[in-house]
Amino acid sequence: MATTRDYYEILGLSKDASAENIKKTYRKLALKYHPDRNKEPRAEEKFKEISEAYAVLSDSEKRAQYDRFGHAGIDGQYSAEDIFRGADFSGFGDIFEMFFGGSRRGPMGPRKGSDLQYDLYINFEEAAFGIHKDIDIQRTERCSTCHGTGAREGTGPKRCPTCGGTGQVRTTRSGLGMQFVSTNTCSICHGRGQIIESPCSVCKGAGRVRNKRKITVNVPAGADSGMILRLSGEGDSGEPGASAGDLYVVIHLMEHKYFKRVDYDVITELPISFSQVALGGDVMVDTLYGKVKMNIPPGTQTHSVFRLKDKGIQYMHGHGRGDQLVRVIIKTPTRLTSEQKELLRQFEYMSDGKRSEGSETDLNGKSKEKQKKTKGLFDKVKDAFES
Ligand SMILES: [Zn+2]
Ligand SMILES: [Zn+2]
Repeated sequence: MATTRDYYEILGLSKDASAENIKKTYRKLALKYHPDRNKEPRAEEKFKEISEAYAVLSDSEKRAQYDRFGHAGIDGQYSAEDIFRGADFSGFGDIFEMFFGGSRRGPMGPRKGSDLQYDLYINFEEAAFGIHKDIDIQRTERCSTCHGTGAREGTGPKRCPTCGGTGQVRTTRSGLGMQFVSTNTCSICHGRGQIIESPCSVCKGAGRVRNKRKITVNVPAGADSGMILRLSGEGDSGEPGASAGDLYVVIHLMEHKYFKRVDYDVITELPISFSQVALGGDVMVDTLYGKVKMNIPPGTQTHSVFRLKDKGIQYMHGHGRGDQLVRVIIKTPTRLTSEQKELLRQFEYMSDGKRSEGSETDLNGKSKEKQKKTKGLFDKVKDAFES
């Protein structure tokens, strides 16, 4: 059922379209292509396509997922049909409610179970590499004593005398010279078509009980905060004959002391001494994949950012990884030994001298001599600050 076309393209909208605009556009297109009105051969297919696009884009969470990961974001490990159902959208029925009002529940049978939400906190590495997590949830399940019938052991439910077991009652009204026939859910059996005379002692006739359950959640590599995993049918169980609700697992990333994240890139800061950046050299950098050697060119300024290719997080869909961005932060020493102070004074003196001589004298021997002396001094500074 799922289309592979871009949802915005299907509705002819731009990515920043407002919720109001999405709704308006959908109404217009849905009216145009509704199979009851449009008898062209492709109309029904087209109608389903725009309905699917609307089901996703009208739900702010699903829209965010789609914007971020495309179709893969909404049907990755859970099927597109799940997403479609999750939008609480029933296709043809919905449009009549939208334009002609009235209850969309209408004549309906037993109620579906409630959806549940679970907030799952995972650490940086678990999100980057993916993980199977066991979670404990409280949910309503079918009573195992009466097998969901709600009737006491040895007895069974009886056919509802009011609706004759259909779960629905028809009423006829007259008005405006016409007869209106409406079908409603039976108020005695609540649509079940059955009534219980002696209820089950465990569930008191409800057919359902609260249970604690351990469920394994498969968090894919590359998962990020705000991602929602849908576990179809793992919510509360429904009334007899109806399907269970779904379990939504909302992913939250815990802070890492060293790594930060922007999409698939890992952001780190590297504190470094000023002699190291002035002279340049190799430094070791922590990455998700262990320590990596990185070269700092001489004269690097504080807050310069270096990119370590492919040291970021694996893309959730498709091959490859993001990068690691390393921001160099120069540490200014706070407590200095007398030797360090003396060396810095000499350094300051040499730097001032060089500045006052100007560039035109740079080529003469005296200046070269001074540069050599400065370099020798700098090595001493480096030794003094890096030990
Ligand atoms: Zn029971
Ligand atoms: Zn009934």
